[in-house]
Amino acid sequence: MPAPLPPFTRLVLATHNSGKLREFRQLFAAHPFSIVSAGELGLPEPEETGTSFAANARLKAEAATRATGFPALADDSGLCVEALDGAPGIYSARWAGNPADFPATMARIDALLTERGIAPTKRRAHFTAALALVWPDGRSLEVDGKVFGTLVAPRGTVGFGYDPIFMPDGHDLTFGEMTADQKHGIPADGSEALSHRARAFQALERRLLDAMA
Ligand code: IMP
Repeated sequence: MPAPLPPFTRLVLATHNSGKLREFRQLFAAHPFSIVSAGELGLPEPEETGTSFAANARLKAEAATRATGFPALADDSGLCVEALDGAPGIYSARWAGNPADFPATMARIDALLTERGIAPTKRRAHFTAALALVWPDGRSLEVDGKVFGTLVAPRGTVGFGYDPIFMPDGHDLTFGEMTADQKHGIPADGSEALSHRARAFQALERRLLDAMA
C-alpha cells in the first residue's frame, strides 16, 4: 500500500490564467489551505512540450513545485472537436493566439466544420481537463475529467475561452450562458459536476481523501 500523502497548508496553482484561478478558488473554497497562483508569484510559464493533456499538466506542476517548494497543482485542458480529429485539443490556447482572440478562433472552427460539411446538429466536441498535483518530493496524483456536448453559434458572455460555443449534453444553454455555479459548482448531494475541470476536481478530491486517510 502506498505511503499516505502529506497534508499541506499552501497550494501553488500553476496557472497564469485568471479564469482558471477563479474557478479553482471556488472549487477549493471549502478546503483549509491557501491558494496562490504561479501568475501571482511571477513564475515563468514553462513551455508546454508534452504530447498529451496529462503530460502538460505534469510538467507545469513539476516546474511550480520546484520553483516554490510547495505542492503544486496544474491543469491542462482544451476543446476536442470530433470532426477535426480532436483539434484544437492540447493546442487550444495556441490556436487562440497571443493575445488570445477567441471570437476569431471560434469562427475558424465554425468555418472548418462548414468546409467539411458537418451539419450544425452533428458538431460533437468535448472538453478535457487533466490535473496533476505534485509534491516537492516527487509524489503525485493525476486525474482527468471530460464533458461532452455540441458546438453551436456563440452565445453568452459568462466564462472564458471557448465557453460561448459549447453546449453540454442535456442542457440548452452554452457554458457562456451559465452561471459559474451551474458550470463548475460541486453538487452537495455528491452527484457529478458538469464541467470537465469540476469533474477532474471531484476525482482529485476523492483520491486525496483516500490517500490522506
Ligand atoms: P491550457 O492553459 O494550456 O490548459 O489551455 C487551455 C485552453 O483551452 C485555453 O485556451 C482555454 O481557453 C481553453 N479552455 C479550457 N477550459 C475551458 C473552459 O472551461 N471553457 C472555455 N475554454 C476552455
